[in-house]
Amino acid sequence: MSITDNLQKLKSEIPKNVTLVAVSKTKPVCDILEAYEAGQRIFGENKIQEMVDKHEDLPKDIKWHMIGHLQRNKVKYMAHFVDLIHGVDSLKTLKEINKQALKHDRVINCLLQVKIAQEESKFGLSENEIKTILNSEEFNAFENINVVGLMGMASFTADKNQVRAEFSSLNEIFKELSTPNKQLTTLSMGMSGDYKTAIEEGSTMIRVGSSIFGTRNYS
Ligand SMILES: *Cc1c(COP(=O)(O)O)cnc(C)c1O
Repeated sequence: MSITDNLQKLKSEIPKNVTLVAVSKTKPVCDILEAYEAGQRIFGENKIQEMVDKHEDLPKDIKWHMIGHLQRNKVKYMAHFVDLIHGVDSLKTLKEINKQALKHDRVINCLLQVKIAQEESKFGLSENEIKTILNSEEFNAFENINVVGLMGMASFTADKNQVRAEFSSLNEIFKELSTPNKQLTTLSMGMSGDYKTAIEEGSTMIRVGSSIFGTRNYS
């Protein structure tokens, strides 16, 4: 099936309240353009330099999401255009995003990454670490970032029950952190292999790459 076919099929399957991020990492500009022509406007990349290059080459109404682990020294290259940063996992990184956003007189939307997987290799914060950050004076003085929700990645396992339990635990944290004063709106969870489970467990934003663009040769 073509990229256009894949997109249409996916969109027919997901509820209206769930936002689709088309993960285009490693894929050429022509593939992204095909998805763009089919109506897709939100794309996710996991390397800042690659996202910057694609942003320069592609239509300017595309919303670019940074979904990868952040290198703080590269935040400055995307601060003028990035629409949402998914994988923020430290106060230091928030501080850098705030600083770079201020230079461009912008408020950058961010998601805090929660570690829900068993695997050591996955990044992310614990619930307590998130609470500590959100309650800190330093964080509350940042005027150029807006934390709008959470992001998480489930374990890479065939055990569907484990994946479901991990998504469910993330949704619990999401609901708990959402207070009347500060409503969290975005729960980014679910990829090609597990987005259906993620939606059942409360996801509002899925990040899908290979089911749209085909398998990748490298990550
Ligand atoms: C690559 C990637 C995805 C998409 O993965 P697929 O399995 O190709 O859908 C989603 N989220 C993150 C953080 C990724 O790095």
